[in-house]
Amino acid sequence: MKDTYTYNRLGYSRLSDESDEIRAYKRVLKRRGVDVPCEKCKGLGTFGYGSGSTYHGGMGVASIKFDVCNQCWGTGDKNKIGTNIKELETAQHQWEKEECVRYLSYSLGVTLPSMTKAIGELADFAEKQSRKRKLDFFKSNNWYSLSKILRGLIE
Ligand SMILES: [Zn+2]
Repeated sequence: MKDTYTYNRLGYSRLSDESDEIRAYKRVLKRRGVDVPCEKCKGLGTFGYGSGSTYHGGMGVASIKFDVCNQCWGTGDKNKIGTNIKELETAQHQWEKEECVRYLSYSLGVTLPSMTKAIGELADFAEKQSRKRKLDFFKSNNWYSLSKILRGLIE
């Protein structure tokens, strides 16, 4: 595109079909290696989510929070999808749970099935403890949280 110039009271200035912002945007895309910009993040790789939970979903604070775009996963390019971080995190959490049960099983010298059964029984016990009437709110909450964590290990 050929720029044209005009003369005004400030001197000569460049006139073209594109604004400076659009040229700057195109430079950013070029530097990031984006050929076809992602429709969601417009090629920037990040997106302003309306909830603080961002791409994780679920509960989050009601504010705009920028995080990696969950359509292109950070590449900014519609045709070059990056690693799905949400799937990666889910796989990592599952691995951590399995390793935790394996560690307990190994440490106690019991088989995995019997460890899984014992964790379930511990979760039941913790849940019963959380329902005791004489417990204060925080202790009750701790027992309840423990029961949820233990159940999460064997799901
Ligand atoms: Zn994107």
